[in-house]
Amino acid sequence: MSHQIENTVLILIYLFGSITFISGLKMLSKPDSARRGNILAAVGMGAAIMGTIFFYTNATGEHLKNHIWIFGAILIGTVIGTLTARRVKMTAMPQMVSLFNGMGGACAAMISIVEYKHYHFYSCNSGELFAILSGLLIGGISFSGSMIAFGKLNGNIADKRFKGQSLINLILLAIPVVMVVFMSYQQEYNGLMLLSLIAICLLYGITFVMPIGGADMPVVISLLNSFTGVAAACGGFIYDNQVMLTGGILVGSAGTILTVLMCNAMNRSLLNVIIGSFGGGSHSGTEAGTVSGSIKEISLSDTAVLLSYSKKVFIVPGYGLAVAQAQHTCHELEKILEEKGVDVKYAIHPVAGRMPGHMNVLLAEADVPYDKLLEMEDANNEFSATDVVMVIGANDVVNPAARKNPASPIYGMPILDVDLAQNVIVLKRGMAAGYAGIENELFYDTKTKMLFGDAKASLQKLVSEVKNV
Ligand code: NDP
Repeated sequence: MSHQIENTVLILIYLFGSITFISGLKMLSKPDSARRGNILAAVGMGAAIMGTIFFYTNATGEHLKNHIWIFGAILIGTVIGTLTARRVKMTAMPQMVSLFNGMGGACAAMISIVEYKHYHFYSCNSGELFAILSGLLIGGISFSGSMIAFGKLNGNIADKRFKGQSLINLILLAIPVVMVVFMSYQQEYNGLMLLSLIAICLLYGITFVMPIGGADMPVVISLLNSFTGVAAACGGFIYDNQVMLTGGILVGSAGTILTVLMCNAMNRSLLNVIIGSFGGGSHSGTEAGTVSGSIKEISLSDTAVLLSYSKKVFIVPGYGLAVAQAQHTCHELEKILEEKGVDVKYAIHPVAGRMPGHMNVLLAEADVPYDKLLEMEDANNEFSATDVVMVIGANDVVNPAARKNPASPIYGMPILDVDLAQNVIVLKRGMAAGYAGIENELFYDTKTKMLFGDAKASLQKLVSEVKNV
C-alpha cells in the first residue's frame, strides 16, 4: 500500500474511532444501552490502536517497528485488566475505577517525559512544549492523587490534615505551573527541572487528596477523572492524533461537568477541592458532637403491616444495599407492595454509595424502572406527604447534622430530608457510622424505627411477611 493510501486509511480509522467513542459515551447515559455503548467505544478505540500500529508512517515513510514489545505490553495489560475486572466485587468497583484512572494519568505523564526529550532533538516550539509539560503536570497529579484515593476507598489510608495545609497545597500547585511555563519558554532540555517537576507533581497529588475525606471524596474522584482526560488530550495535541484528542476532551469535559455538579450537590466550592481544604472528619472515625436519645427497634411483622397499609412509600438506597447485594430483593418487595396498591418510589442522593451513579447502576441491574427513581430535590418535595421512608443501608446521605450542626464535617451538604415523612424505618446491621464516620441523629428521632440485620436477609423476610398481610 502506498504511503498516501495508508495515511488516508488511518485518518478514516481515527474518524471511525472518534464517532464510536462519542456514540458510545452517549449510550452510557441510559442503563439499557450502557453495556452496548461501552463495547462500541472499546471497538472504536481498539481499531484506532491497531490502525496506528499497522498504518502509521513517520516523515520518512517508516512504519512502527517494535511489534513484539508493543503486543507484549498489550497482552500483559489485557490479561491483568480482564482478570481484575472479572474478579472485583461490585462494592470494590470505586477503588478499581480510581486505580485505572491513575494508570491513565501515569500513561499521559510518561508520554510527556519521553516526548520532552524527543522534542529537544527534533523541532520544538513553546506551544508544543507547553502541551507536553502540561500532560506531565496533570497526568502526574492524577496518578498520585488517584493512588491515594484508591487507598482511602479501600480503607488503607486515613485522612491527614495539619495546620496551614491549604497554603502549602496552593504553593505546591503554583510551583509546577510556573515551572511548566518557564520550561516551555526556555525551549531546551533541562533534566534537573524535569525530575523536579515530576517529583512536585506527584507530591501535590498526594497532599491534595490526603486531607479530603468524609463525605467529600466523590468530588475528588470526578475531578481526578477529568484530570486524566485533559492529560490524554495533551497527548492528542503532541501527536496531532484526533482520537486521543476526542477521547481526552470528552473525558475531561464530562469529568469537569460532573465535578461541578458534585460540588453543587455537596455545597462545596471547586477552589476548596483543588487546594484540599474541605471536608473534615473522616471514615477513620472523627465525630462532631454527640447525639442523645434512645433508639427504637421494629419487628419484621410490624414493618410489613406498616408498609402494606401505607399509601406512599419511599425507599432510600445507600452503600449498605450494594454491600448486601439486596437490589433484586428490594425490587421484589417494591413490586409486591405496588400490587397491594402502595405507591413506591426510590429517592436517589447524588453521592449515595461509593461512586457517582452507584445507586442508579445497582437498581438498573435489578430492572427497577427508571421513572421510579427520583432525584434528591424532587424526593425532598414529596417526603412530607409520605407515609413511610425505608432507608436501606444509607447513613450519611440522610444525616440531619448536615442541616443542623455547623460543627459537623458534612454541614452544608444537601441531604435527603427523610425526617419530614410520617415514619422512617432504617435497615442496617448495627449502629456503625457511614463513610463520614459520624453519628446520625436520625436513628434517635421519635419517628424512626430500626430494623437491624443484613439488608438482604431483612428484605427477604419482609417479602414473605408482606405477602401474608
Ligand atoms: P454510608 O457509607 O454513609 O453508610 C452505609 C451504611 O450501610 C453503614 O452505616 C452500614 O451500617 C450500612 N451497611 C453496610 N453493610 C450493610 C449490610 N450488609 N446490610 C445493611 N446495612 C449495611 O452510605 P451512604 O450511601 O449513605 O453515603 C455514601 C457515603 O460515601 C457519603 O459519605 C459519600 O460522600 C461517600 N462517598 C461516596 C462516593 C460516591 O461517589 N458516591 C465516593 C466516596 C465516598 P452497619 O455497618 O451498621 O450495617
